[in-house]
Amino acid sequence: MTELESVAEFRDRARRWLKDNLPAATGRYSGPENDDIWDRSRQLQRILSDGGFAGICYPKEYGGQGLTTAHQRAFTEESFEYEMPLVFNIPTLSICAPTILDLGTEEQKRTHLTAVLRGEELLVQFLSEPRGGSDLAGLTTRADRDGDEWVLNGSKIWSSGAYAADYGICLARTNWDVPKHEGLTLFLVPVHAPGVTIQRIKQVTGSTEFCQEFFDDVRLPADSVLGEVNGGWAAASRLLFHERSAMGGTSPYMSGSRPRLSVDLSELVELARSVGRLDDPAVREDIGEARAMFRVRDQLVARVSRQLASGELPPPASSIVRLFSAENAQLQIDKAIRIAGASAATAAPDGTGRQLGIDYLFRNSWSLAGGSAEMSRNVISERLLGMPREFAADRGVPFNQVKHGR
Ligand SMILES: Cc1cc2nc3c(=O)[nH]c(=O)nc-3n(C[C@H](O)[C@H](O)[C@H](O)COP(=O)(O)OP(=O)(O)OC[C@H]3O[C@@H](n4cnc5c(N)ncnc54)[C@H](O)[C@@H]3O)c2cc1C
Repeated sequence: MTELESVAEFRDRARRWLKDNLPAATGRYSGPENDDIWDRSRQLQRILSDGGFAGICYPKEYGGQGLTTAHQRAFTEESFEYEMPLVFNIPTLSICAPTILDLGTEEQKRTHLTAVLRGEELLVQFLSEPRGGSDLAGLTTRADRDGDEWVLNGSKIWSSGAYAADYGICLARTNWDVPKHEGLTLFLVPVHAPGVTIQRIKQVTGSTEFCQEFFDDVRLPADSVLGEVNGGWAAASRLLFHERSAMGGTSPYMSGSRPRLSVDLSELVELARSVGRLDDPAVREDIGEARAMFRVRDQLVARVSRQLASGELPPPASSIVRLFSAENAQLQIDKAIRIAGASAATAAPDGTGRQLGIDYLFRNSWSLAGGSAEMSRNVISERLLGMPREFAADRGVPFNQVKHGR
């Protein structure tokens, strides 16, 4: 067995390579707000791949580097100053590709993981539906077997970046005669296949990243199934584990940045200075609280990551960091708004306060994206603390006998 390069040597090599191969980052990453970022990210991901720095924690046989989370952390720290393909992080690298790694056939892994790591494929999640995202097992998008194929019909919504992606991981109902969790199957769906219509949704922030998809007799080959037929709930649970890890900051598969926090600490200090309130005791207290939350978040992420990796904590524990990260993000935004005061609402289009106002409009997303904060509390109470399960009128009832609000 060849010995792994030490983290210190790897860090040095990464530092030199980044300096020679990637341009400096320009400004704070604010999400995929303009369409050019997708093509640019594909190019950057290809550069990482050619340089031997793509998929640091992915196995070598699928185009990764087969290294440890400590190597990934070192690379991420070194790469902060450089332009990185950040739109690959969520959901492609940290949620969808790890699900394929866990559940895919050898062929699925060789096809999709290799393409993702070379920047040739972006993935998206098709989970939420117009009737609601929290009751995921109650979904009504259907896939019916027809000879060697499946025929997909229904609609998904809130799919981040679907219009720019290549494949969607889609949960659909394949058996209506059994209780809701038992009749689901996970599929890999080509986003631009005949029968798929994508509509972009404009949010209050102005972003059109969200999409709704309509599936009309979309034909999928038998080998599109990811995991077992009718074993979709177990498969989706694996995907949700990766999703909570990504949102909570414990995923080993993200490169270059943590999930975007609206404002960071140095920005809060700068903000207080710019509005002339750095000496205000109430503002200093707000900054202190924000700092304490960041420190707790970092310690929590480190501890939960370690315990998840060693098996001391079961996968549902990813909900702890997912919940805390959402609360922290919202607290940081609220503090920033308190400090900025009216300037957050009245800033010029290119002023600092303008981004803050937009961040405030996006604030509630932090407790919805990756499953809502309330659902995280349910997971923590029922699956970690052993508290009684909440009442569900449809438990154990064949899905075709469950009443729906149609
Ligand atoms: C930024 C962002 C990105 C997203 N990206 C994707 C994506 O790529 N793909 C995708 O499929 N989805 C995506 N989503 C959708 C997200 O998964 C859903 O918003 C989330 O699961 C909640 O579903 P919902 O919005 O339909 O709310 P609902 O399920 O209708 O819930 C409404 C409210 O009721 C509460 N609630 C519901 N049930 C319970 C319960 N049993 N106990 C207590 N409270 C409850 C919820 O917590 C919520 O506050 C994204 C959302 C956001 C904000």
